[in-house]
Order: sequence, then C-alpha cells, then structure tokens
Amino acid sequence: MIKTCKMCGRDYITDSNNAKFCPSCRPEASRIAAREKRVQKREEYAKVMTKCKTCGKVFHPRNSRNTYCSDYCQRNRPRTKPAPKKQKELVPINTAARAAGMTYGKWQSLKWMQETGIGRVTL
Ligand SMILES: [Zn+2]
Ligand SMILES: [Zn+2]
Repeated sequence: MIKTCKMCGRDYITDSNNAKFCPSCRPEASRIAAREKRVQKREEYAKVMTKCKTCGKVFHPRNSRNTYCSDYCQRNRPRTKPAPKKQKELVPINTAARAAGMTYGKWQSLKWMQETGIGRVTL
C-alpha cells in the first residue's frame, strides 16, 4: 500500500499497517519517540512525592527506590532491630543435639544426611 510519511510528507510503499514513517525517516522517528518517552517519564517522577524515611521531609525522589531526601538521611536512617528469629530456631536444635550427645555441627550433618539421603558425612 502507499502511505504518506508523517515526518517528511513523502509517499512511500509499505506492507505494514502500523507504519507511520518512510524508511528513511524511521530511525529518526524512533529516536524522537524514545526521547519523548524519557521526558514523559521524568515528568511523571516530578509529580511523585516521597516522604523521607529519616526526617519526614517530602521531596521528589530521583528514582523509584529513592526513599531518603539526602545522602545524609540515607546514612542516618533509623535502624530496624534485627529480628531474633535465627536465635529462636537455633535453640531447639541445639537442645536436641546436646540431648543426643552430639555437637551442633555433628547434629546438622546427620540431619542433612537423613534429609538428602546423599553424600557421606564423617561423624
Ligand atoms: Zn519520511
Ligand atoms: Zn530526610
């Protein structure tokens, strides 16, 4: 079919229904489209406001992961307490191992052997 290029206004032949530009304008057209997309994205970000997790100030994030208003706040972010979960898990196994007269390491090796059924572990 014959179409008219939206960029240079020349007629050209194409098989594609979606084609909007002649072959010589197509690379330039995609560059422009990419640039417009970038600008659009930047404008979207400019609209987004994030509250700094450290000081509570509302600011424009540089990217979607940016949750602190400044490097200072990033460094001085409130520390979350480490979960004592690991410790809790350790206790019963340790107790079980001691009850069986084994060290924790040996107990773990034995458990691993029973679970996997492969490999040889020297006790
Ligand atoms: Zn053209
Ligand atoms: Zn801050």
